[in-house]
Amino acid sequence: MRFLKSLFSIRVLLILISVILAVFAMDVFTLDGNFLFKTFYFIAFLITAVGTIFYKAPIISNGLKRRKIRTDIEIPLPDEIATVSRDFKKDLMEKERLFQFMFNSSIDGFWTYDIPTGKVSWSDRAAFILGASPQELGDSFDILKTKVFEKDWSEFRNKFAEALNQSESFSTPLRLLIGKKEITISGRAQCNDEGRPVCVFGSLSQPSERTAQFEKQNALSIYVDALTGVRNRRCFLEKLEKEIQKAKERPDYLFALVLLDIDHFSAINDNYSLDMGDVLLQLVSERISLSCRQNDCVARIGPDVFGIILRNVQNNRTDDELHTIVRRLHSKVKTPLQIGSNEVYVSASMAVVVNREFDNVDDLLANANAMLREIKRGDDRGGIQFFTSGIREKAMKLYKLEFEIRKAIQCREFLLYYQPVIDIGDQNKIVAFEALVRWNNSERGIISPAEFIPMAEETGLIIPLGEMILQMACTQAKKWVDLGYHDIMVAVNFSAKQFAVDDMVEKVKRVLVETKLNPRNLKIEITEYSAMCEVEKTIDIMKALSGMGLQISIDDFGTGYSSLIYLKRYPIHTLKMDKSFVNHVAEDEEDGTFARMVIGIAQSLNLELIAEGVETKAQLEFLRNEGCRLIQGFYFSRPLSEVDALSYLEAHYLKNKTTPVLN
Ligand code: C2E
Ligand code: MG
Ligand code: MG
Repeated sequence: MRFLKSLFSIRVLLILISVILAVFAMDVFTLDGNFLFKTFYFIAFLITAVGTIFYKAPIISNGLKRRKIRTDIEIPLPDEIATVSRDFKKDLMEKERLFQFMFNSSIDGFWTYDIPTGKVSWSDRAAFILGASPQELGDSFDILKTKVFEKDWSEFRNKFAEALNQSESFSTPLRLLIGKKEITISGRAQCNDEGRPVCVFGSLSQPSERTAQFEKQNALSIYVDALTGVRNRRCFLEKLEKEIQKAKERPDYLFALVLLDIDHFSAINDNYSLDMGDVLLQLVSERISLSCRQNDCVARIGPDVFGIILRNVQNNRTDDELHTIVRRLHSKVKTPLQIGSNEVYVSASMAVVVNREFDNVDDLLANANAMLREIKRGDDRGGIQFFTSGIREKAMKLYKLEFEIRKAIQCREFLLYYQPVIDIGDQNKIVAFEALVRWNNSERGIISPAEFIPMAEETGLIIPLGEMILQMACTQAKKWVDLGYHDIMVAVNFSAKQFAVDDMVEKVKRVLVETKLNPRNLKIEITEYSAMCEVEKTIDIMKALSGMGLQISIDDFGTGYSSLIYLKRYPIHTLKMDKSFVNHVAEDEEDGTFARMVIGIAQSLNLELIAEGVETKAQLEFLRNEGCRLIQGFYFSRPLSEVDALSYLEAHYLKNKTTPVLN
């Protein structure tokens, strides 16, 4: 087709005519006469020859620059061109309009940030969300500076800069100054082919009515204590942090942190009921709230602990006034409560710290907590303790101790000593060892449990420590059994906190399996006081443990005021008479009577009885005469190291017929 077209093109035609005219030129000019015809022929030849040489393709203009139309390329028909370009434009326009429509009518607001110019474009909706007029928006982010909290604005700036650097997306909440609304600003950097960010597209979104309501409820449940309706621990810590910040900004600003702990709360739960305990907490929280000012903060931060922030104590409250306020609060809480037909007496211990010497929440709380612990441990239980520098030192010491115990657990710096339990009714034969923990400290040497067990209990560190102790004791007992001391028992002390752990029974089972110790060689000791803490739960755990075949012993019996009714319900095997009753049995009539009573209880309940802390022959003889056969105390042996314990066992397990040497 192209060939044919080129064949009939004008130039080819001209060449053809020129050739034909040239071929017949000789014949025409050699003919006689007809001069006119010859002239005409010559002119025609000349024109076609010149035309052939000088003929050029026609030129058209596209309005911008002149170019040659290539006749050998198929180009679309003019109206085809028009149709295509019109649809494309329409498409573009429609897309643009759609984008604009979305940009302005979406429930979210949009913005774009052009990196080369640094200009921001906002959608109308963005203006609405920010509570600004479209004119106010301008072409920068400055509008945000005036509409949101300063902290949120700087947070946004940081995230925005980070997103630009990393070419990533970001999202951050903004709290509007007016209307207390929280909105979210999000954005994503757009990169060019080289991966460099060229612009940022972003949105502004606000929670829908429903989400806002849901979030409000959610926020409430996040910040409010469900039982008492006062603030919860989380909220309290946030408020405390704010107060600390405020004090940093205004060095003269003072506030007071008060911790209020209800004494013997578990006893109230046990003696009455859990419901009664709940009502008591509600009434106490109500009393505290009523005694505080509107802008003070009251929170329940532990099962029976309330935290109170008394704000702004410097301007209108001198220290004396603060003391008066705290005392008033204390006596209000201590006024007997009428719950149903019961009149309940509440005792509360309080620790009060003013922020003067503290610039962080952890330090402040650690000191207040340490003070509270001190009050509860000592004679001041039920009283108020105001912070002094001396207390701080003491608190810091305790804080350090906690840290060191934690480290010692990791480094396994604890070891066990073993104190023999002797059967004086059977040739002073050793029947058991009590495992007693010691801390082998690199600087201080061997440290007694009295120095670290209470702290380990308060901080919960007794749980990992207790597990380690059980593991070590069972491993040791298994060694003795394997050496042929088949009946030897090992008694391990458990604290109330360990008993409260949900999978406590499972843990004991696991240790027995791991160490391959027969449960009949293991005895668990729990103090009488601990056993009285959560009676029903304790009974269940004891049942599960004794069901496994191990024995349970009530330690320090006589100090925990347990009722005989409970004692009968406990699936226990042994009572250990506390040392304080053994001390003067020989010379004090009253102590003697009490010791006889304990022996009588054990006999009537058919329980084994061990007398602890026996140091003298007189004590021993008294106990022997009253029918107590099992003796533990320095009279026979002090707690022994692993090596010495084995020697003792070798000497006293089977053939120990000799009477021990008196101290
Ligand atoms: P406990 O369980 O009542 O242990 C008996 C304590 O009395 C031991 O003190 C023992 O050394 C001491 N003792 C025994 N016989 C005599 C005596 O004749 N005279 C005197 N003055 N004391 C005697 P220790 O080892 O210092 O333990 C003190 C307490 O620390 C224990 O009292 C127990 O409550 C606790 N404890 C010890 N080891 C552990 C443990 O592994 N876990 C837990 N949770 N508590 C432990
Ligand atoms: Mg004990
Ligand atoms: Mg004891």
